[in-house]
Amino acid sequence: MSKLVKEEGDKGRLHIETPLMGESLVSKEFLKRTEAKEYFRMQPDINVLKIGGQSIIDRGAKAVLPILDVLIQAKEKHKIILMAGGGTRARHVYSIGVDLGMPTGVLSKLGDKVSWQNAEMLTVLLAKYGGVKIGHGDNLEQLTMFCRLGYLPITYGIPPYGYFEHPAEIGSIPPHRTDCGAFLLAENIGARSLIYLKDEKGLFDSDPKKGEGKKNKMRFFDRISARELMELDLDDLIIERPILTFLQRAKCLKELQIIDALHHPEHILDALEGKHVGTIIYKEE
Ligand code: ADP
Ligand code: MG
Repeated sequence: MSKLVKEEGDKGRLHIETPLMGESLVSKEFLKRTEAKEYFRMQPDINVLKIGGQSIIDRGAKAVLPILDVLIQAKEKHKIILMAGGGTRARHVYSIGVDLGMPTGVLSKLGDKVSWQNAEMLTVLLAKYGGVKIGHGDNLEQLTMFCRLGYLPITYGIPPYGYFEHPAEIGSIPPHRTDCGAFLLAENIGARSLIYLKDEKGLFDSDPKKGEGKKNKMRFFDRISARELMELDLDDLIIERPILTFLQRAKCLKELQIIDALHHPEHILDALEGKHVGTIIYKEE
């Protein structure tokens, strides 16, 4: 901890002696000393649920409404924040933006608006059950309060990088989209769990939709560590790739689960109860 030090003499000034004084905050050896044994978790009872844009919302009422029915039931027992994905409209605006040579940061801002539209629709559908749309500011400190009062907070998933979005490793699509947004929020608030609601039962060794109906021949991962998955270096994944690095470095989150909420909305309740119904990706200690 910092210490107040008084200079000698009558006119002595007060100084703050802090362990970070004189450090560049870059030295690896130094940074190791800032690692805590246990990190503070602001919202340890909140479950972050990301509802897929392309995988769920774009499919309309027949996909969305059964999931909302389960969420209305779930919120009586569990504290939930719902984060909306983007989906096909985000892909369309990215493709126009790429064609026009737009910078990645601009594409991020465009994708954010689509996720916002989806959050708006979910909020309208859930309004009479306590659905309330919130932004990425101070409301995020009030999540536990919202849930205690019976609300179901809903927000958009794109993290607020905008013009500060990182360059992508390959190509120009913003690498941090709504899967990343859900992860970063869950990690920073010290959430209880992070669950991705998608249209496949979890992670396979390639995209099952491109496998010419050979799903039974594909390898399914019911549990795999972020490190192993990075080493496998699969060409395609069911969640955004930066999450693997995030999870391996996470201070609070230990794992995340990807579930098939399209064919099995009831799996949302199972996952909230801590049951293993999809793919769990975990942090290797
Ligand atoms: P969301 O709308 O939730 O963001 P996406 O459509 O972006 O979902 O990503 C989910 C899709 O990823 C799945 O529907 C599946 O077709 C595809 N996918 C790609 N690679 C894989 C993989 N290795 N295992 C499972 N699904 C994969
Ligand atoms: Mg996606």
